[in-house]
Amino acid sequence: VSTWSSVPAGPPDPILGVSEAFKADKDPRKINLGVGAYRDENGKPYVLSSVKKAEESIRASNPDKEYLPITGLPEFTKNAAKLAYGEDSAPVKAGTIAVTQSISGTGALRIGGAFLGRFYPHAKVIYLPVPSWGNHTPIFRDSGLEVRGYRYFDKKTVGLDFEGLKEDLRNAPEKAIVLLHACAHNPTGVDPTPAQWQEISDIVKERQLFPFFDMAYQGFASGSTDRDAFAVRHFVKEGHQIALSQSFAKNMGLYGERVGAFSLITADAEEKARVDSQLKIVIRPMYSNPPLHGAQIANTILSTPALYHEWESEVKGMAERIISMRERLYNELTHTHKTPGEWSHIKSQIGMFSFTGLSEAQSVGLAEKAHIYLTKDGRISMAGLNGSNIDYFAESVARAVK
Ligand code: PMP
Repeated sequence: VSTWSSVPAGPPDPILGVSEAFKADKDPRKINLGVGAYRDENGKPYVLSSVKKAEESIRASNPDKEYLPITGLPEFTKNAAKLAYGEDSAPVKAGTIAVTQSISGTGALRIGGAFLGRFYPHAKVIYLPVPSWGNHTPIFRDSGLEVRGYRYFDKKTVGLDFEGLKEDLRNAPEKAIVLLHACAHNPTGVDPTPAQWQEISDIVKERQLFPFFDMAYQGFASGSTDRDAFAVRHFVKEGHQIALSQSFAKNMGLYGERVGAFSLITADAEEKARVDSQLKIVIRPMYSNPPLHGAQIANTILSTPALYHEWESEVKGMAERIISMRERLYNELTHTHKTPGEWSHIKSQIGMFSFTGLSEAQSVGLAEKAHIYLTKDGRISMAGLNGSNIDYFAESVARAVK
């Protein structure tokens, strides 16, 4: 008998499973709105021009393929921290941010989970918004933290359950860890307003909670990397010692290159050195050191003013195309197809995703009847819509709802 004969089959990944079903579908009208990857106006993956130019300049410099240090390319991590915290942030200026390169956002969250699991000096309990990105629970559970939830989304208003959120954070045990999506909340597309972030910061302070920000979409929400960093920078200004996960998958379109960063704010240089030394000890047995190429691309963009400006306008372009799809989808559902129900949330939601409010039966039905693939919770990736498929999508949704 085989050594693995008693390994039970596991369920397919809820998001990546949608892509597999999409690939197997032969209908020419098929649309994949499952995975959160940007698509251009022709529905094609998009390699940013700033990225292509960065790659050319890297190639021209004839680089070697040596290992990076355990915590990655030092210039990259420095520039990544500047992008998130802002050039004139106090801990950036004081040099008290412990930062490491990571295998994109997922790896940053995992390093953070492992570090907190090992060194967080209070109860190792993390509160996630309900709902949250599907991978958060397994990442933190596998890191040895106890995962709990705080209310976030209100099905009735298809918006933020702010009262529920506040109540749950106030009732969380003191010093619990709380995960916050910095912007463009996945899967709901619903973000707190700046005023609401200020209230959240106050409660986090009152309850001495430890804020762990997941920033996977900086620039993708509003089109401005500064505006999208509001929550992170506000918390830092308020004196919170935050943990931060960053991903360059979406905002630089570097999905498969796996470029990210994890950082912690420390009290002073001496403490930073201790934290840095332990980050290395956490990372070394996981993967020794991170991949080189993507970090070189991101760093070239972040450190070359002309490329940085081009990148900023490309991020804005992606965000604006998504926003224009929201406007158009709303109009088609409401005016063209007179779809029953209220659809203004399509326009007010933020970032890559929209939580449509479609039921599981309707979502599954769209795949079976219309070759349109989305996750069962009714989430669609707005970036999968374009001028050629949005009519068919709106018409199919209208039919599914009527
Ligand atoms: N956090 C959130 C909220 C996400 O949506 C994603 C991407 N789907 C990630 C983290 C991490 O993605 P990656 O590992 O590709 O950077």
